[in-house]
Parts: sequence; C-alpha cells; structure tokens
Amino acid sequence: MESPIFLDHHSTTPIDPDVFSEMIPFLTQNFGNASSSHIFGQEARRAVEKARVQVANLIGANPKEIIFTSGATESDNLAIKGIAESYHRRGNHIITTQIEHSAILDTCYFLEKLGFETTYLPVDKYGMVDPEQVASAIKPNTILISIIHASNEVGTINPLAEIGQIARQAGVLFHSDAVQTIGKIDVNVDHLNIDLMSLTAHKVYGPKGIGALYIRRKKPKTRIKPQNYGGGQEGKVRSGTLNVSGIVGFGYACQIAQTKMQKESERLIGLRSRLYEGLKEQIDFLHLNGHPQKRLPGNLNVSIEFIDSVTLLEKLKNIALSTGSACSSNSSAPSKVLTAMGIDDNLARNPIRFGLGRSNTTNEIDFVVARMVEEVKNMRESSPLYKLMGSEVESSPPNRMKMVN
Ligand SMILES: *Cc1c(COP(=O)(O)O)cnc(C)c1O
Repeated sequence: MESPIFLDHHSTTPIDPDVFSEMIPFLTQNFGNASSSHIFGQEARRAVEKARVQVANLIGANPKEIIFTSGATESDNLAIKGIAESYHRRGNHIITTQIEHSAILDTCYFLEKLGFETTYLPVDKYGMVDPEQVASAIKPNTILISIIHASNEVGTINPLAEIGQIARQAGVLFHSDAVQTIGKIDVNVDHLNIDLMSLTAHKVYGPKGIGALYIRRKKPKTRIKPQNYGGGQEGKVRSGTLNVSGIVGFGYACQIAQTKMQKESERLIGLRSRLYEGLKEQIDFLHLNGHPQKRLPGNLNVSIEFIDSVTLLEKLKNIALSTGSACSSNSSAPSKVLTAMGIDDNLARNPIRFGLGRSNTTNEIDFVVARMVEEVKNMRESSPLYKLMGSEVESSPPNRMKMVN
C-alpha cells in the first residue's frame, strides 16, 4: 500500500470536498463583513445565520443559543471562565473529571490560582464517570459541572443525561465538551440536560479554526461573561469579526454529518471490530482500553504488553496513529486518562489509539492489522523480556472483552 493511511480522526479530520466548495465563495467574491449593513455584509450575515441553524439542528438547540468561536479550546475557556466570572458571587466550586481535555484542565488550574476550588472526579476502569460521584461532590458553593461527553483517548461515552439531571435538580449549571461526539452519535442538549456545550468543526470534516459554544437561553437562562471585548459580535459574548467562510463550512459539515451519521457509525463499528478482532487473534497480551460497548464508533485504544508504543508507531511509517491525545503525544509520561482508569503504569505508558473515519476502508484495516502483527512479532523477537515473561509467566490474563458489532 503506497499512500499513507490516516487512522487518527480524533486529532482532526480532512475537510469534506462539498464543505470546501460551500466555503469558497465566502473567501472570494462574497467577502463581506457580517456586521456591515450594506449588500456585501447582508450576504455574509445570511450565510452565517443559515450555518447557525445547521449547527443548532445537529444538537437540538435553538440557533440563538449558538455562539461561534475559534474552536473548542476557546469554547471550553469561554464556558468555564465565563461562568466562573458570572457566578462567583454564588460560589467558587467547579466539578470536573480527571479525563478532560487540557483545554478544560488547564483552565481549571488557572482558576484555582484566582481562588476557585475544583474537584477532579475519578473514573471507573472503563474511563466512565459515575453519576453518583457527581451527586456527592456537589456542595452549596458549586456553580458548574463540566464533564467530557466522550473521551478523546479511549472513546468511552459518559452518562450525561443522568449527570445532567443531577445537576439540574441541584441547580448547578452543566457544561460538556462534546467535540468527539457531535456528528458521531446522537447529541441533544435537551435529552442530555446540558446548559453549555463546546463544539469544533475540524473533527467533523469541517475547517480548522472554527467552533461554537452552545449556551442555554431558558430554564435556566445561562449568563456568561465575555472573555474578549471589542465590537460586541455574537450577542456581545464573543467579540471579533466573524470567520464567515469557516462558519459556512462548519454549518454545512454539521448538516452532512447529520444525514450520514447513522450509516457511517454502523460502518465504522464494523471496521473497528474487524481491526480489534484481527489484532487480538494474532497478538497475545493485547489489552483493550475503554468501554467494550459504550464507546465512540470510530475509536479503538489498546496497549500491548512488552511493546513500546512510540517505537511501534515509528516502525509503522505509513500509518498515521497516535499514542494518546495529539496534544500530549510528545511526552513519555503515562496517559492521564489511563492512569485515572487505574491501568497499570506500563500499559498506561503505551497506548495505541486508532481513530477511524470516513476515508477508511476494509482493505486499509486488513493492511494495518497485517503490518502491526508483523512489527509486534519483530519487536518481540528481539525482546528478552517478552521471551521470559511471555513463555514462562502467566502475566495479566488475556483480554476477553468482546466488542459489540
Ligand atoms: C480536539 C479537541 C479539543 C480542541 O478543539 P480545537 O477546536 O482544536 O481547539 C477540545 N476537546 C476535545 C475533547 C478535543 O478532542
């Protein structure tokens, strides 16, 4: 196989050619500023409002509840800091988890320096948050709960509807980073009892540098302090000239995702099973990380005993894979997510994350299985540890978890 295979769709996705076509006019002849009142501005504004409806539709929101941002990092920052600043008189306690994206964790660390207090909830061995633990973490001064919808590392999907109900009953606002789930599984802000939700376009076959924050308008009305000031765009919540072409692309990407979601997720689950079963059959001491069923359709995450994952990925030059999240792939530290799941340090240091997406085919999966099996065998042949452990000691029991198709 000549051309490289992209199996890293959690880090980003290629832009859908139809999305790109939709964007082009707004980079060329329709270049207007959406805030201008003349004809050029009006055209840009119309396109922005159409996209706002498309984004809102994907998550069951009202278009007025969508604020465009530069991406999910900004949305996460805006949500957490904006709520903290808006509600600090009511309380200074935030509940989140140990498995959040760094855009959430680092924002919470920053707020701690300003006097806020954060609870980082643990997860179970599958990477799932327990709603009862959320309930018991709530205190009179809790103002916000922020829980990732599905982990960008192990793909485990959290029980947001239950957690949202707990938050609602306690009168605490509920935010979720839903970057990995929109367009992949059903996401509905009402069903999930969500008050704020972070989204980004480039993980759903849209352009990079554009995202959104959903902010509930009613029951409860959510007040958020802007984190940048200027021209007062986006209802004064997010000043700055709108990225019209990006917004148009984001909107169209959401519309396409909505129509393709059902069939595509079934296809990805099939491919994912083929990949996992193929690897598991031919590689011993292979461990599945994350939940066997409640996980993203395109996600597989495994650790292979006696295999350094960075070295393995280096040998698989033509296959784009990741060891953990794209943002932490340079460090040799164990994955925070796997550590929070209570996974043995050696395995937590060596995850291999597969992110399957629209471009992947059965042929590619078969090729990847064959190449991985080959390289693992080579690496183990020169590994005295494997020879010793693999033959003489019954190490951790083989992984018998079965994934649903
Ligand atoms: C990719 C990602 C982000 C960051 O999104 P950007 O739009 O690239 O800033 C945030 N949260 C999660 C879970 C992600 O996977």
